[in-house]
Amino acid sequence: MNYSAIKKNDIANGPGVRVSLFVSGCRRHCKGCFNSETWSFDNGNQFDKSAMGEIMQALDREYIEGFTVLGGEPFEDENTGAVYHVIRKVRNMFPKKSIWCYSGFTFEELKEKEGARNILEMIDVLVDGPFVEEKKNLKLRFRGSENQRILDVKKSLTADRAIELD
Ligand code: SF4
Repeated sequence: MNYSAIKKNDIANGPGVRVSLFVSGCRRHCKGCFNSETWSFDNGNQFDKSAMGEIMQALDREYIEGFTVLGGEPFEDENTGAVYHVIRKVRNMFPKKSIWCYSGFTFEELKEKEGARNILEMIDVLVDGPFVEEKKNLKLRFRGSENQRILDVKKSLTADRAIELD
């Protein structure tokens, strides 16, 4: 997997100050995508031990509330293995920090998608659905268009239906 960026003080993609990993590769190509340079699977650098170390070091600060994975598409088949690996490590090392993930797939699609379920089981929040330019709303927090939902993943998996975060 390649990644496009690691942000160490991100305040736009989830609550508090977070460390964010922008993975590379997305086939959806939403009109008006905020991050179209990440569409190519070759964009950026290969996600390696040094990138993992950078994330762990950045997370190891009191004021960092959590970790967010976005892109690009974390749930493309090419990315799910590495995304699972990094999320599992973050979960083990920092069990009290929240983990958010963004996807152009919906929760309903992801719970049936190979390789996605084990990621869902380890994250706290999924912001789901593609960016729809006609539904763009700049007032929304942590999402770009009104069709996107901020889901409590544990509750959603237990209920087997999408449940939005309180
Ligand atoms: S799913 Fe996300 S990264 Fe992919 S094209 Fe849509 S907005 Fe961009």
